[in-house]
Amino acid sequence: MVISNRSTFMSPRQVMVSGATGYVAGWLIKRLLEAGHHVHAAVRDPANKQKLAHLEALQADLPGNITYFAADLLAEGSYAEAMADCEIVFHTASPFSLRVKDAQRELVDPAKLGTRNVLEQAKRTSSVRRVVVTSSYVAVFGDNADFLASGKPFLSEDDWNTTSSLTHQPYSFSKTEAEKEAWKIAQTQDQWRLVTVNPAFVMGPGISPYATSESFNFMTQLADGTFKSGIPNFGVGLVDVREVADAHLGAAFIPEAEGRYLISAENSSFPEIAQILRDQFGDDFPFPKRIIPKGLIWLIGPLIDKTLSRRVLARNVGYPVKIDNRKSIRELGITYRPLEETVTQMFQQLIDEEIVVPS
Ligand code: NAP
Repeated sequence: MVISNRSTFMSPRQVMVSGATGYVAGWLIKRLLEAGHHVHAAVRDPANKQKLAHLEALQADLPGNITYFAADLLAEGSYAEAMADCEIVFHTASPFSLRVKDAQRELVDPAKLGTRNVLEQAKRTSSVRRVVVTSSYVAVFGDNADFLASGKPFLSEDDWNTTSSLTHQPYSFSKTEAEKEAWKIAQTQDQWRLVTVNPAFVMGPGISPYATSESFNFMTQLADGTFKSGIPNFGVGLVDVREVADAHLGAAFIPEAEGRYLISAENSSFPEIAQILRDQFGDDFPFPKRIIPKGLIWLIGPLIDKTLSRRVLARNVGYPVKIDNRKSIRELGITYRPLEETVTQMFQQLIDEEIVVPS
């Protein structure tokens, strides 16, 4: 596919972003404002000035502008006002939490019913021409063991997660259910094209460092001693939040963009991230120094962190995962920065904001 010249598709448009307060959405909105777009930011509570302060600061310095709208994933029809007259809909909102009591209510309902709510509204909004849904690479596979079982050299956009459920990897299940729902709805109309962005684990500095995203929880856990006795050898795909934003822009504005796009810079692991932090920030923080043996983490993991269930550990620790990112490079023109830069800049932001403090 020949990629269209960027300048031809970046003329200012009216676009809606759901979940505008989020970590991923922050960089997406920055890029949209840089290009002069008018962003309809759908947020749960537009009166919460503290949550919008980082977006307001962006708006002050950049050519585009933002209008805020109140919307909730579970309130049917609540995106109507935010979406009115928009040509492009970015649906980023979805709870990203691994610590839930009721997975159906806290994860699957907002992810799946929320996607239905937003996309059904897009069907009713005649101005919409493209819908970009932020899915995840966890909609492509459930556990790292699935990659081994696939027998493939890499997981690609052709693969789907078939092993997650409400009781095992419920966040991954919620993303899979939501993306399937999106494709189902897209097939019922021909007014707009659906493109999904499926990022790996996202890292890198936030526009606001006070995000609730698990990306920040993980980074702070590396510095607070949670893993001081050792870190499990957990394979992950990693990508910088700025490349995730670029991928959303490509998915929205490149006329030929279609289907799913896996967005992953490197096939890495928890120990590799810890090593980068140790190399860059020395011994000021209790970073993990060794890999904890699989048998031991299987025993004590659930005590360290409730999200590390024995089944999750058994099916992920010691297994690599390899993601094919070639479609994103070829069709969206993504250039991935090195992992060291992503991890180092994110951690430096946490230090600068005193979210992590040396011990
Ligand atoms: P985040 O910072 O926690 O953002 C989640 C956003 O969803 C927030 O704006 C939140 O709004 C909104 N939201 C949650 N429940 C909602 C509801 N009921 N109604 C309306 N809005 C709701 O997480 P993130 O990492 O940026 O995630 C953004 C998207 O990227 C998600 O779809 C996530 O699955 C996907 N993703 C993330 C990663 C990653 O590693 N971070 C990787 C792959 C895919 P409030 O501010 O009001 O809570």
